[in-house]
Amino acid sequence: MTTLTLKNITKRYDNKVQAVTDFNLDIEDREFIVFVGPSGCGKSTTLRMIAGLEDISEGDFMIDGKRMNDVASKDRDIAMVFQNYALYPHMSVFDNMAYGLKIRKVPKDEIKRRVDEAAKILGLDPYLDRKPKALSGGQRQRVALGRAIVRDASVFLMDEPLSNLDSKLRVQMRSEIIKLHNRLNTTTIYVTHDQTEAMTMATRIVIMKDGVVQQVGTPKEVYDN
Ligand code: ADP
Ligand code: ADP
Repeated sequence: MTTLTLKNITKRYDNKVQAVTDFNLDIEDREFIVFVGPSGCGKSTTLRMIAGLEDISEGDFMIDGKRMNDVASKDRDIAMVFQNYALYPHMSVFDNMAYGLKIRKVPKDEIKRRVDEAAKILGLDPYLDRKPKALSGGQRQRVALGRAIVRDASVFLMDEPLSNLDSKLRVQMRSEIIKLHNRLNTTTIYVTHDQTEAMTMATRIVIMKDGVVQQVGTPKEVYDN
């Protein structure tokens, strides 16, 4: 069971730009939450606060009721997939997927077991020795997913993971990500500016504008409004 609580969360950058204002949300176990809204509305900032990559200016973030504000990013039971994949160009696919485990001092044989398993799930087994530049866009995107999967985290965060793919691959990857979410039993937050993506993927949608939550509901509730 993994629940997330965002309580009155506000973010000010350099005590000037107020990127997020009084964000409140309870996320239940195994939900697939989508934050949607135009560029600059505070989606990434909110996700990065949850990941521990940005400080929270005001308010509390909790996992299973435990306050996480002061817990370091690497010590949170959270894995994140970035928009630009952030793959290391000089490392093989295997090493890219293994990196987050190495820095957490996971034993070598355990790393190999987890990377091999993730590669199998994602169809990456033939490419483990390749460098990212020898892969297609879809394969790179899978490596970025693989790097998150191997963490065995309870919470998955995804920041516009499909926006660099062509439209056909984007549609295909939507359903792959949902299958993955169901298979891994994670609690997931997915950020996009694409309303169709939100409507087809979410258990609940959070609509944001100018740093403020406008509406929260199932795709049907949002559509009916
Ligand atoms: P979105 O993900 O919805 O595109 P962001 O969370 O990236 O929105 O940005 C929200 C607001 O915060 C924007 O006005 C953006 O310019 C500002 N912002 C984002 N990151 C920083 C930063 N590191 N320093 C200052 N302002 C930032
Ligand atoms: P996105 O909209 O996907 O969040 P952006 O292009 O807005 O991406 O931001 C890319 C990076 O630049 C992020 O790390 C963000 O924190 C940073 N950033 C965005 N706006 C600002 C800003 N006004 N000042 C400083 N850094 C910013």
